[in-house]
Amino acid sequence: KPTTVIVGGGQAGSEAASALRQAGFEGRVILIGEEPYPPYRRPPLSKAFLSGDAAAETLLIKPLSAYEKAGIEYIGGMRVVNVERELKRVELQDGRELDYDFLILATGGSARKLSFPGADKSNVHSLRTADDSIAIRGEFVEGRKLVVIGGGYIGLEVAAHAIKNKVAVTVLEAAPRVLARVTAPDMSSFYEKVHREAGADVRTGVVVQAFDTEGDKVTAVVLDDGSRVEADLVVVGVGISPAVSLALDAGLEVSNGIVTDGNCRTDDPSIFAIGDCANSLNGFLETRVRIESVPNAMEQGRIAAAAIVGKTPAPQLPPWFWSDQYDLKLQMVGLSQGYDHVVLRGNPDTRSFMAFYLREGQLIAIDSVNRAPEFMAGKKLVAERCKPDPAVLADESVPLKSLLE
Ligand code: FAD
Repeated sequence: KPTTVIVGGGQAGSEAASALRQAGFEGRVILIGEEPYPPYRRPPLSKAFLSGDAAAETLLIKPLSAYEKAGIEYIGGMRVVNVERELKRVELQDGRELDYDFLILATGGSARKLSFPGADKSNVHSLRTADDSIAIRGEFVEGRKLVVIGGGYIGLEVAAHAIKNKVAVTVLEAAPRVLARVTAPDMSSFYEKVHREAGADVRTGVVVQAFDTEGDKVTAVVLDDGSRVEADLVVVGVGISPAVSLALDAGLEVSNGIVTDGNCRTDDPSIFAIGDCANSLNGFLETRVRIESVPNAMEQGRIAAAAIVGKTPAPQLPPWFWSDQYDLKLQMVGLSQGYDHVVLRGNPDTRSFMAFYLREGQLIAIDSVNRAPEFMAGKKLVAERCKPDPAVLADESVPLKSLLE
C-alpha cells in the first residue's frame, strides 16, 4: 500500500491527512510538523486568543487523539530538512529517513521581517505562531505605546485588540490607505475611520526607515519625513514569505510559491503543494494564485487528497476570508482586483453594509460588514458568476437570495 508523507502540520496539512482517510486512502499517512503544538488554527492568534478570550486548547484543529483514531501518524516538533526526489524519501532533522509514494508540501510561510538595525530587538514582534501571539499579549499593558507597522488585516486586528486592552496604538501604513491590497478605497476609509474613532492614530503613506534603540529594546520608530513615533512595543505585519526552501532545493518549480496545477500537483507527479506555500491553478478563478486563507488551505487539502486516490474533487468555490475588528465582522468573497464598478448596500455609518464589486457586469467579489446571513447568499451569487442589476444589489428591500438561480 502506498505511503503519503505530509510536510507541515498546519491547517492545510491537517486537512489533507483527514481528507485522505475520508477519500478511502488505505496506506500510511504521516503528518510531520516542526512546531511544538499539534495542528492549530491561526485566525484566533490576532483575535480572541490575543485578547485572552480563547483558551489555548480551543486553537487545536482537533485533539491529538483524533489523528491516532484516523490512523494518521503525527510527528510533532520535527523539521523535514530534505527531499530526495529520485529516492522518494524525506530526511528529518533527527536524521531519520521516510520513504513516500506521495508527498504533500504544506509548509505555509513565515512572517516577513524588516531588514534594518533594531528589527531583532526583544520588543519587536511578528505574528504567525501561537508563541508570537502569547508574547504580544504579554506586552499589552495599559498605557503602553504600541506601533503597528503595516495596515493589513493582521496589523489592524492587533490594533483593535490592543485598544481593547487600553494600549495606545499607532498604525503605520506605507500605502495611501489601509487594506489597500485587498479592498476598494471605500472599505479602506471605513476601517481607517473606525480605528481612529476607537482611538488609534492611523497614518498612511508613511514609510518606516529605522528604529531608535536602547539596550535590547526599540524606543521609537523613525519615519521617512524624519519624525519619530515612540514605542514600548512594535508589531510588524507586512506579509509573509511562502516557505519554499524544501521545494527549491528539490528542484521543483517555484514562483511566488510552489507552482502547481489545478490538482495541486507540482511538476513532479508524486509531489503536491497546498495552502499558503502554493501558487496553484485555481479552478474557479481560472488563473494561478497563491491565496493565504483557511478556506483555501482546507480546500486544497481536499483537492490533493482526491488527486492521490484518483477521485474528482468538488468544484472549487470562490476564495473567501474574514476579519474581526472591534464589533465588526468583515467577510469577503472573490477577488476584487480588476473591478470597474462598486455598489454599496446599506450605509457604512450603521456599521452594517456590503460592497459589491462588478467587472463588465459580473459580480466578482463582495465585502460584507456585519451581514453574515446575506453574505451566505452573496457567496453563492459570486460562485454562480451572476450579472445582477446593480440597482437591485443596492436595494435593501430585495433579499439577496431572491437573485439566486
Ligand atoms: P500554516 O498554517 O502556516 O502551516 C504550515 C506549517 O508547516 C507550520 O506549522 C510550519 O511550522 C510547518 N513547516 C514548515 N516547514 C516545515 C518543515 N520543513 N518541516 C516540518 N514542518 C514545517 N485566514 C483566514 O481565512 N481568516 C482569518 O481570519 C485569518 N487570520 C489569520 C490571523 C493570523 C495571525 C495569521 C498568522 C493567519 C491568519 N489567516 C487567516 C491565514 C491562515 O491562518 C493561513 O492561510 C493558514 O494557516 C494556511 O495554512 P497552511 O497549512 O498553508 O500554513
